Amino acid sequence: MSSNLLDKGYEPHDVEKRWYSFWEEERLFAASENSSQTSYSIVIPPPNVTGVLHMGHALNNTMQDILCRYKRLCGNNVLWMPGTDHAGIATQNVVEKHLAGQGTDRHQLGREKFIEAVWEWRKEYGSAIINQLKHLGASCDWDRERFTMDEGLSTAVRKVFVQLYEEGLIYRGNYIINWCHRCHTALADLEVEHEEIDGNLYYIRYPYADGKDGVVVATTRPETMLGDTAVAVNPDDERYRQTGKESVILPLMNRQLPVIKDKYVDMSFGTGALKITPAHDPNDFEIGARHDLPSIKVIGDDGMMTAEAGKFEGLDRFKCREDVVKELKKEGLLEKIEPYKHSVGHCYRCKTVVEPNLSKQWFVSAKPLAEKAVAAVKDGKTKIIPEIWENTYFDWMNNIRDWCISRQIWWGHQIPAWTCEECGEIIVAMKTPEKCSACGSNMLVQETDVLDTWFSSALWPFSTMGWPDKTPLLKKFYPTAVLVTGFDILFFWVARMMMMGIHFMGDVPFKDVYVHALVRDENGKKMSKSKGNVIDPLTIIEKYGTDAFRFTLAAFAAQGRDIKMSEKRVEGYRHFVNKLWNAARFALMHIDKSYDSIEHDNLSLPDKWILSRLSRAAINASEAIESYRFNDAAGALYKFVWHEFCDWYLEAIKPVLYGKEGEDKRKRTLSVLWRVLHDTLVLLHPIIPFVTEEIWNKLPGTEGSIMRAILPLGNSDFAKIDRDLEAEAKMGLVMQVITGIRNIRGEMNIAPSMSLDVSIQSDDEIIRETINQHKDIIINLAGLGVLSVESYGKKPERVATSVIEGATIFVSLEGIIDFANETQRLEKEINKLTNELVPVLKKLKNENFLGKAPEDVVKKVKDKKIQLLEKQQKLQSHMDRIKDFK
Ligand SMILES: [Zn+2]
Ligand SMILES: [Zn+2]
Repeated sequence: MSSNLLDKGYEPHDVEKRWYSFWEEERLFAASENSSQTSYSIVIPPPNVTGVLHMGHALNNTMQDILCRYKRLCGNNVLWMPGTDHAGIATQNVVEKHLAGQGTDRHQLGREKFIEAVWEWRKEYGSAIINQLKHLGASCDWDRERFTMDEGLSTAVRKVFVQLYEEGLIYRGNYIINWCHRCHTALADLEVEHEEIDGNLYYIRYPYADGKDGVVVATTRPETMLGDTAVAVNPDDERYRQTGKESVILPLMNRQLPVIKDKYVDMSFGTGALKITPAHDPNDFEIGARHDLPSIKVIGDDGMMTAEAGKFEGLDRFKCREDVVKELKKEGLLEKIEPYKHSVGHCYRCKTVVEPNLSKQWFVSAKPLAEKAVAAVKDGKTKIIPEIWENTYFDWMNNIRDWCISRQIWWGHQIPAWTCEECGEIIVAMKTPEKCSACGSNMLVQETDVLDTWFSSALWPFSTMGWPDKTPLLKKFYPTAVLVTGFDILFFWVARMMMMGIHFMGDVPFKDVYVHALVRDENGKKMSKSKGNVIDPLTIIEKYGTDAFRFTLAAFAAQGRDIKMSEKRVEGYRHFVNKLWNAARFALMHIDKSYDSIEHDNLSLPDKWILSRLSRAAINASEAIESYRFNDAAGALYKFVWHEFCDWYLEAIKPVLYGKEGEDKRKRTLSVLWRVLHDTLVLLHPIIPFVTEEIWNKLPGTEGSIMRAILPLGNSDFAKIDRDLEAEAKMGLVMQVITGIRNIRGEMNIAPSMSLDVSIQSDDEIIRETINQHKDIIINLAGLGVLSVESYGKKPERVATSVIEGATIFVSLEGIIDFANETQRLEKEINKLTNELVPVLKKLKNENFLGKAPEDVVKKVKDKKIQLLEKQQKLQSHMDRIKDFK
């Protein structure tokens, strides 16, 4: 046995481990600051340091890895920048749970000790997700791994904060924010999850100042009335025109409220009057600002009623609601309570009901930054693919609100702002100031809030490359080529990277944004723990190998279409990996050395044909990867390997390989086989890196890793040279003839071992000549005895016929089948099918069934009908063919 023989079956696990360590040891993922090759860069969407690899990561990182490996094979200097995100609230929650397990909490520890505990936790568990990415084959430049809280990135964060503050683009202000009382923090609008709730609508009467009638307002949160500072009506509303209706008395508080007029009020809703609570409702906050109304905060940051709530002070907000309703009833001011379904915001972390709340927060003025980010996409500096997401991006950017960047937690970048306790001066600086710049006092207290996690990740494309220093890395690799991301963080992250990148680097952070779809379960449902339909990528990898999994992801990653993932599909692509393995194993039994050149002139038809098809597959796959059509790339290569290389080429050349046609011919064919296997491995490597590397190393003439190979297309006129349309047409004809004969064999149940006599009639001289020239291939692959070719004449007797373009194939059945028996068998089968069809057709005529049954059930029945009809048709045509013979 020669040493280059592959094992009988492909065992992925050992192979994957071995090659991944090899790649790392040989530093094959490393980018170079000094290379003169074309640069190509991607920054990884940094997974949360608390993360565990899920299907979304698997898809996202497989796509990035395909791009990076592909570009390396094109000869580019590739940087795939890896790292993790400190994930403020998420990590703080995890560590708090951890501490609870040890019987302590962050308040007992204090801020400093708590942050130490988080770092400890990170040291122990924080690289789990990184190791999982390695299992997936991710070829990141791991030596450059960054963390959003590491020193360099923290410097970048400070620099950005200080500069934006100095430019007037960061300000501190009173603002109505979403407040979670549990997490004790402000939440961005996007961090609030809305959920339909069965609540109540309370109708409360506010009497006019003279104590009569009054207006009726409706609210779902009656406790907020304690903080009302006005009632608003529409200026066009006739009902509130008369004098005496300029003010009302706020029940329970006995405060006089003005009745203000504002176009915002919907006249058709209830009585057309709206209570205004600027401190506890975002719309009211804006109306309040327009009319200069005071804000009275009655619900505290702890969810308890404040002193402003009068006698309700100290009550929990929900208990207060009950008490307020009770009191209003007693005073006869509660007109009615209606059940009311409405949407209530919940904290995305802990699911607590979020309260709109007035508080002092830090903001980024988003509008000026957004304008340039919109223009960059309009001008084509950054392309969003698929284009459909551009409008979503524009919509959001054009309606952008100021970005609340402060969070009341401990884990994160503490805001670099200090307040002077003597004079109240606020100092924002890169370095901790020693004394107040206004009064000279040294009584300075740093802001306790930290920055929103997305603030640091917004800087990711340039902070990871060493900004604010002007590093060689930035010069070489910024802007990056593409950002690969899910649409769910298009706003949270992508839009903000655009704004920050343009503002601080003067250029967009990426030329393309590729937005990929979701991975769902096999029925198209979103995967979730509660539904129990989650497929764990690591389990899949364990079971089927990384390559089969990656190929599945690529094969189903059609643009804009969600991926329906199931184990069955991965199993299917494991067959493909095995098919490639077996084909290579067969080839390597014959290939004994490398072949530098091919004698193009003397090649056989299958040789010429496979080279031409290879060139087509290479072009199609490369073009597809370049335009993010991963499924088309996978599809082109699958089709080439399975249906052209394995099904046809390897079968056609077997007699040659076994030396039946002479040594010269064998050598020429081996040179082609070597070339095709060599190039196929390189083409497949980006999608299935492990198995290709393993085979590559057994292929004579290859040195070192396949990662250092150059794609066939790296030679730019490869396509022109090797594309042979004449060979494709001729081989196409040969294949059609063989397929025609094989179909007859199949339909007629003729054993493959039974040799057939065939005559082909055609009036096309070229067809006749081609078939004659390649008779041996047809005889061999179709299992023939005699093959004759002639012009059209009398139709032979006792034959089965197959018609192809320009020719008719006659397969002699004399002595092959027993016509009487066969007719009987066919009649029986056709009858059986007819009986099976009856209930199916009946069902499909039943309106009741069609109207009520679930879509997939109806589809199943319809498919069944098509299936049965097809079978029946086949048998019938078979029957027609032989019925004249009796
Ligand atoms: Zn919360
Ligand atoms: Zn001062």
